[in-house]
Amino acid sequence: MSVNLNIKKESRKGHGIDSHCLRIGESKVMTTINWLDEVENRRESLISDLQSFLQIKSTLDETTACDGAPFGQNIRQALEFILEKAEKDGFSVKNTEGYAGHIEYGQGKELLGVLGHVDVVPEGSGWNSDPFGAEIRDNRIYARGAIDDKGPIMAAYYGLKIIKELGLELNKRIRIILGCDEENLWRCVEHYFAKEEMPSIGFSPDADFPIINAEKGLRDFSLNYEGKNTQDQDFKILSFHSGERFNMVPEYAKAVVEINPNLVEQTKIVFEAFCVSAMYDFDVKVEGNTITFEVYGVSAHGSLPHLGKNAGLKLAVFLANYTRHPYFRFIKEYIAANEDGNRFGIAYSDEITKELTINYGIFQFEDEGKCSIALNLRYPVTFDMVDGWQRIHDYAKAFKFKVFEKNHMTPHHVSADSDLVRTLQKVYSEQTGMEATLHSMGGATYARSLKQGVAFGPLFPGQEDVVHQKNEYIGIDELIKMTAIYAQSIYELTK
Ligand SMILES: [Zn+2]
Repeated sequence: MSVNLNIKKESRKGHGIDSHCLRIGESKVMTTINWLDEVENRRESLISDLQSFLQIKSTLDETTACDGAPFGQNIRQALEFILEKAEKDGFSVKNTEGYAGHIEYGQGKELLGVLGHVDVVPEGSGWNSDPFGAEIRDNRIYARGAIDDKGPIMAAYYGLKIIKELGLELNKRIRIILGCDEENLWRCVEHYFAKEEMPSIGFSPDADFPIINAEKGLRDFSLNYEGKNTQDQDFKILSFHSGERFNMVPEYAKAVVEINPNLVEQTKIVFEAFCVSAMYDFDVKVEGNTITFEVYGVSAHGSLPHLGKNAGLKLAVFLANYTRHPYFRFIKEYIAANEDGNRFGIAYSDEITKELTINYGIFQFEDEGKCSIALNLRYPVTFDMVDGWQRIHDYAKAFKFKVFEKNHMTPHHVSADSDLVRTLQKVYSEQTGMEATLHSMGGATYARSLKQGVAFGPLFPGQEDVVHQKNEYIGIDELIKMTAIYAQSIYELTK
C-alpha cells in the first residue's frame, strides 16, 4: 500500500495538525497528517467536481418522476453523478430506488453516517449569473445549492477520498448518505432508513458550525371550536381569515362584518386608533351595512414568533371587543400574550434549548362554519410534553375547542459529553483556532433524521447566510477549510 502525499513525521504548522498512532501497511509509526495541505493538493479537482455537480439543476420535478426517480429526472441525475464518481474512485455505493443513496468506506461493526442532500430549492429570480452556471467570481462559486447542500457534500466526499488515498485504516464503516427530498417532505430519509442500517453516530453538514446538538420538540395542531355560535345582530362577523402556514407568523388578516349602520363611523374611528397605537398598518372599507377590516403585520418564522407582528391575533383581539362569540373571547383571553404558553400553564425554559414558544399561524372563522386556530408549538428538550399536552387539552375543552394534531417531532439531543460531540469540538478547534461552542435550534435540521446525530457546518460563524436566496455561493476558502474539517472528523470518529 503506498502512502503518498503529506504524511509527515512532524509538522511545524499551527492549524490542521494532528498526531496519531497511524497504521501504515504493517508497521505502526507516529505520524502527523496536515489535513489542510491534503485538501490544497486536491484543490483544482475539488472545485471542478463541485462545479459539475452544481450544474445539474436538481430541483423537485414530479412531472418527470418514474420508478427509480421518485423526485424527477434532475434529482436522479445529481444522485447518479456523485454515486458514479465515487464508484470510479473505488468506493462501494448504493442507490436506494432514487430516494437516497450512499457511499461507503472502511470496515467494522459500527457505522458513522454523514447525511447531506443533493436536491435544491428552485433558483428564483434576480441572479447576477446563471444559477446553474457555477461561475467563479471573487473567490466564490455562485450557484443554487452551493452552500445548501452540494458544496458541503462534495467537501465531505473529498474528506473521505483523502482518507482512502492516504490508506488510513479505519475501525468503523462510514457512509455518506445522500438524501433527495430534504427541501420538501423528507421522503428520502423516511424511505432510506426504513430499509438501510441506522448509523450509531453521525453528523449532517446542512446547518451551521460549530455544532448544533439540540433541537426543540415541535408540535403542530389546531384548536377547532365546537360550541354554539353566539353573535349579536349589531355586529355579526361573517368571516375572519389570517395566515396560511402553521410555522409562519401571519402578516395579513381580513374580517368581514355585518354591522348596524349607526355604529359604522364610531367603529371605524376606534379601529383606526387601535391599529395606530399598536403600530400595525390597516385598511377599512364600508359598503352598505358591511364593513371590511384588514390588518398588515410582519411575517417571521414560527420558531421566532416574537420577531413578527401577528396580524391575525391583532385583528381578532379588536373584534373580541365587539362580539360575544366564544371563539374571539378565547383568543383575547388565552391566545393573545401567550407566545410563551403561560396562559396554558406550560411556560418553560431550559439551559439546553431555552424557551418554549407558540406561533399562531392560521385563523379561520366562518359564521356558522369552521372556526379554528392553528398552532406551532416548539418545546425544550427537558419539557414534560405529556403533562403539557394534557393541560392544552384541558384548556381547550373548557372553552369547547377540540384539539387536532397534525404533526409531532420529539426533541432531538446529543449529550455534550458524548464522544461524538467532544471529537467534533476538538477537530473544529484545531482546524479553525476557534472555540467549538454548542448550539440549539427551534427549527429542525437534517441531523434529527439520525438516531444520534448533530448538525456540523457548513456555515461558519459570522458568515453571510445565502441559503435559499438569489446569488447563493460558497467561498472557496471556506470550502477548503470545511473539507479539512470533515476529513479529520471522519477519520477521528472511525479510526
Ligand atoms: Zn439543506
